[in-house]
Amino acid sequence: MRKIQSTCNYCALDCNLDFYVEDGQIVKTVPTKGYPVNDGFCCIKGLSLDKQQKTVKPNSLPKIRKADGSFREVSWEEGFSHVANKLKELQEKYGPESVAGISTGQLTLEEFALFGHVMRNYLKANVDGNTRLCMATAVVAHKQSYGFDAPGFTLKDLELSDRIIFIGANPVVAHPILWGRVRNNQVEGHKIIVIDPRKSETAMNADYWYGLKWRSDLLLLYTIAGQLIEKDYLDHKFIVEHTEKFEEFQKFVRPYTLERGAEGTGLSREQILELVELIHSGKRVSFWWTMGVNQGYEAVRTAQAIINLALMTGNIGKPGTGANSITGQCNAMGSRAYSNTAVFFGGGDFTNPARRKRIAQVLGVPESMLAEKPTKTYNQIIEGINAGEIKGLWILCTNPRHSWTNNETFAEAAKKLELFVVQDIYDTIESAEDCTVFFPVVPGIKKEGTYINLERRLSAMRPVLARGEHEISDYEAILGVGKALGMGDALKGWETPKDCFNLMRECSRNMPCDITGITWEALENSHGIQWPYPEGREEENKEEQRRLYGDGNFFTPSKKAQFVFEEVRENPLPASEKYPFILNTGRGSVGQWHTQSRTKEVKFVEDVSVKKAYLYMNPTLAGENDIAENDRIRVFSVNGQEAVFLVKVTENVGYRELFAPIHYIECNKLTPSLYDTYSKEPSYKATPVRFEKEPPANEEK
Ligand code: SF4
Repeated sequence: MRKIQSTCNYCALDCNLDFYVEDGQIVKTVPTKGYPVNDGFCCIKGLSLDKQQKTVKPNSLPKIRKADGSFREVSWEEGFSHVANKLKELQEKYGPESVAGISTGQLTLEEFALFGHVMRNYLKANVDGNTRLCMATAVVAHKQSYGFDAPGFTLKDLELSDRIIFIGANPVVAHPILWGRVRNNQVEGHKIIVIDPRKSETAMNADYWYGLKWRSDLLLLYTIAGQLIEKDYLDHKFIVEHTEKFEEFQKFVRPYTLERGAEGTGLSREQILELVELIHSGKRVSFWWTMGVNQGYEAVRTAQAIINLALMTGNIGKPGTGANSITGQCNAMGSRAYSNTAVFFGGGDFTNPARRKRIAQVLGVPESMLAEKPTKTYNQIIEGINAGEIKGLWILCTNPRHSWTNNETFAEAAKKLELFVVQDIYDTIESAEDCTVFFPVVPGIKKEGTYINLERRLSAMRPVLARGEHEISDYEAILGVGKALGMGDALKGWETPKDCFNLMRECSRNMPCDITGITWEALENSHGIQWPYPEGREEENKEEQRRLYGDGNFFTPSKKAQFVFEEVRENPLPASEKYPFILNTGRGSVGQWHTQSRTKEVKFVEDVSVKKAYLYMNPTLAGENDIAENDRIRVFSVNGQEAVFLVKVTENVGYRELFAPIHYIECNKLTPSLYDTYSKEPSYKATPVRFEKEPPANEEK
């Protein structure tokens, strides 16, 4: 029996797993003991990765749609030429930006780097990632506040903190291994505090829960800041030495009084003051946020309001502290730094002459071949298709027909495309329904590459199983199209994922995410290595769990962190007489992942999951509308769409709020085309809706 250590490619923890293989089959999966992230534990999703050896169709070939709507199977060579020729044809006819790509935080670092080279550099096309749907807000917040997209924490901080404050985050369900680290916390008197409109599974396990009104988080955070200032609960030394614009911030928050905060958030004055005292009495306060913050119309400013609290109280860069964004997908961090979409490989602006020179030198291509500007954002790509400006789309390992906000707009877009390439391990995903080409690729258990987790830790994915006759990886599919496009020497040095990794290492040299000290081999069977890890400075970085900003230096030109703030905006989509209720969305259960393309094939997850779209409703609201558990309701959204859901009755949602898990396509049918101003991340979390009771469906009787 062989043992192969590899990385779980679901969530951002990137747990490591030991796969035991006998006769070409995984016979046992054991979470890697001693791995600093998960040390012998993992969740049901990681444990079920071996199921893909049965559920993913082996030896599939690409398919091209014929004029009559049916598919014909073709060789990989023909598939590559077909896509390459179509891409060129569309660009010649409609211009370079008439083709686009949507990548994902699920791929390896090398795969989206290569995709970024082929599509963004060579074709000058737009490519955004589904990371736009989850982490774009944190990225912009970090860049503006810290000078670089560099979350500074390490998971160890969860064990060292005496005030662990979760804001719009539900790790019990969404990041179970991260929650395990909270459970490991032995600090005497430590408190777990949750700020969330819903009494989530994490809130149920917390010491304090603040159930504020939907989308009042920014108001609450400014109110807290005002109170901390009023009471002089500040770290003056840190503010003076390591931050800028505090005086302006101090003036700015003055009108955010306790009265105003209480009125707008629905919390009592006493609750807000209690929270202020909890922060002040903590010696190591850590703030943790995720999608409840990121997915809003003023999300960047909300994330920065959290950062401001950490800065003003000096809770950053020290053990157990930080304003820490919890990432969603397994390689969202890799995609942020190495996909060539919003910034260059390894970071830096596309217009920065020094970066252009360096990247061109490393890649061995003329500067003129490099992308010249950040990509159009996800919403602009979908809008561009619907406006008839974008005619070709290539999506990898993502399912926008389900996951995109107001997802009928994607359905409409998909029908308008002249070329729609879907590359995935399953041809059954909703997005493949209207594709013109399908590229079947192998799952993670058959490929190699690098992942970067939420605490900046690189880890290795290594092939656990051998490939069948026609089986290729995402990397090889992209490379095949690149060659068919005639990229020639522009692909020199990109032959294998390892070659690509080495290029990316060089691109990162002297950047904050410098990984020049990490080798492909060093990641194998390792404990992972966090960036930064510059060549020649391995000794000083040998500690396994490192955090940034310990010296108080940030990545801005002045090395000081910035207080960034802006007035709370009026809600552009408030509840109204016509749509008096608010639909919130989020993860449903530990076993379900996003659009369920993978997890619905896992029998023991499927057996315990609700089969149809459902939502949670407060018992009082249910009673007033004569609705009982498992009744059906039709929900009408402010976006003009409607969908049917089963009702689960619970005290854990507020009277005017409904909560729907994201794993059912109906959920994002109802979410609006509303985005954060700076990150363009969709505002998934607070959609005004109304509902009517539906007659029971036959199959549910
Ligand atoms: S899904 Fe996340 S928590 Fe679960 S095993 Fe994979 S990486 Fe770990």
